Amino acid sequence: MTEVSAPEKPAYKRVLLKISGEALMGDQGFGLHPPTVQRIANEVKSVHDLGVEICMVIGGGNIFRGLQGSAQGMERTTADYMGMLATVMNALAMQSALESLGVYTRVISAIPMDQVCEPYIRRRAVRHLEKKRVCIFAAGTGNPYFTTDTAATLRANEMACEAIFKGTKVDGVYDKDPAKHDDAVRYDDITYDDVLIKNLQVMDASAIALARDNDLPIIVFSLDEPGGFCGILRGEGTYTSVHG
Ligand code: UDP
Repeated sequence: MTEVSAPEKPAYKRVLLKISGEALMGDQGFGLHPPTVQRIANEVKSVHDLGVEICMVIGGGNIFRGLQGSAQGMERTTADYMGMLATVMNALAMQSALESLGVYTRVISAIPMDQVCEPYIRRRAVRHLEKKRVCIFAAGTGNPYFTTDTAATLRANEMACEAIFKGTKVDGVYDKDPAKHDDAVRYDDITYDDVLIKNLQVMDASAIALARDNDLPIIVFSLDEPGGFCGILRGEGTYTSVHG
């Protein structure tokens, strides 16, 4: 009798993928690069196809950052609202790319803009996830002086995600910048406290502290590696796990 192997079971049931706005700009140096958005949408689809429930938070740094605006003389809170609006544009671009692949999505904004997307209502968002719609959370936390890293940690907690996946250009957290130092060493595992003490650039400090206080693991992996996101869900590939 031939042995039938058990169907592959993903390591997590519900996750949040955080990517920076810059991940969407390709080599352009600014704005949105549609083929790059489509490539990332393909990565998300392959995880969605495993049956994993997916939340996403996308930054806005490819379009506008509040700190940059305020450094140039703009009033800080106004500049931050502009940054939040930039994240809505990125979320809509990702929605369009995912839906072109047949993946149902909802863009859910912390700042209500009814003609464009849904307002954030936690219970409604949970229902979308249960119905296997990808929830793209936009406009950060809705408050100035925060970042989308903190928004990602907040939403991951509220949605009861089992982990945050932080997609970056490199395959984990290194002791120094691997783009500048050949002898940089990657951590397989690191604690939240070590990330904070060593000032490693994983996410900003308030996001790390919020993850630590709620025991939410952060998986740092390379978004440039084709199939990397899906591979980790299957228990393969290289990444760094940040935990307690
Ligand atoms: N922002 C904000 N509150 C939030 C999230 C974001 O004011 O809760 C603004 C802030 O100005 C930030 C900009 O939106 O600079 C874009 O977000 P972020 O810098 O986190 O984007 P990323 O670096 O991930 O692309």
